[in-house]
Amino acid sequence: MNYKLAVDIGGTQLRVALYPEEATQAERCKRIPTRGKGSAVERLIGLLSEIWPAEGVVTGIGVAAPGPIDPDKGIIFSAPNIPGWTNMPLQKHLEDAFHVPVHLGNDANLAVLGEWRYGAGRGHKDILFLTISTGIGGGVIIKNRLLLGSQGLAAELGHVSVDPNGPMCGCGQRGHLEAISSGTAIGKYVVAQLQQGRTSVLTLDPAPTGKDISSAAAAGDALAVEAVERAARALGVAIAGYLHIFNPSIVILGGGVSQSGPVFMEPMLNAMRAAVIAPAYVNDLVVTLAELGDNAGLMGALALAHSA
Ligand SMILES: [Zn+2]
Repeated sequence: MNYKLAVDIGGTQLRVALYPEEATQAERCKRIPTRGKGSAVERLIGLLSEIWPAEGVVTGIGVAAPGPIDPDKGIIFSAPNIPGWTNMPLQKHLEDAFHVPVHLGNDANLAVLGEWRYGAGRGHKDILFLTISTGIGGGVIIKNRLLLGSQGLAAELGHVSVDPNGPMCGCGQRGHLEAISSGTAIGKYVVAQLQQGRTSVLTLDPAPTGKDISSAAAAGDALAVEAVERAARALGVAIAGYLHIFNPSIVILGGGVSQSGPVFMEPMLNAMRAAVIAPAYVNDLVVTLAELGDNAGLMGALALAHSA
């Protein structure tokens, strides 16, 4: 039997899974903490050896890697949560160890590949995917092909400016979507307003979590509603811009913030519809939540192993 291996490298966990060819359920999977005894590369090679099939042939390994990567050379430029991973030639390390083709993809890009092949995007050829959690990542599929750009750096959809005078983004630029609509940004906005003396069921100590804010918003707390709506409207405007550029048939939203319910989705959809230059962009557009959740990285890596 032929097999594919999928690898998901997270800041806290390394996950690997073994899939029989054309299967979508893993035959075996394992996970270990990313940090521990030995280097992360040695630990990953050890983990892959543990689930390597005793019989049959592994025809490829797909790897979902954090941070910016060079998908052609198989290099991870930087992985802030993994010590020593600067310009890490992971593809070469794994090919030297296992002598099978290895393909690397950025985790946000692979999440859209996973949703396209196995999740909410099945049957769609043109897909826009956004994950809205602590940061904002994205991926774009055009005519069944993942958009990579000339260097594999395309689809950084969280780092577009929606307000040149807006708050500073984690990347060092001002007013990016991520600095207004991410879970981190929503939390910062609430804290800043509380510090100015706004009254709310939310408190400075303990600082509110994303869940606290979305529940308070769902219960009608004015500050929480304002914080969530502000984020949702900026996202809607940004998505309208993406619709003009990519003209997808479906927008898939992942990440914790997208689970906030109508208090988030309604203002987002209203802002998006109000900002498009022609109704055709939204008339038949599907806007839906991601389906793969915690398995997005592994399923994306599997999709990469199949489509590479
Ligand atoms: Zn940014």
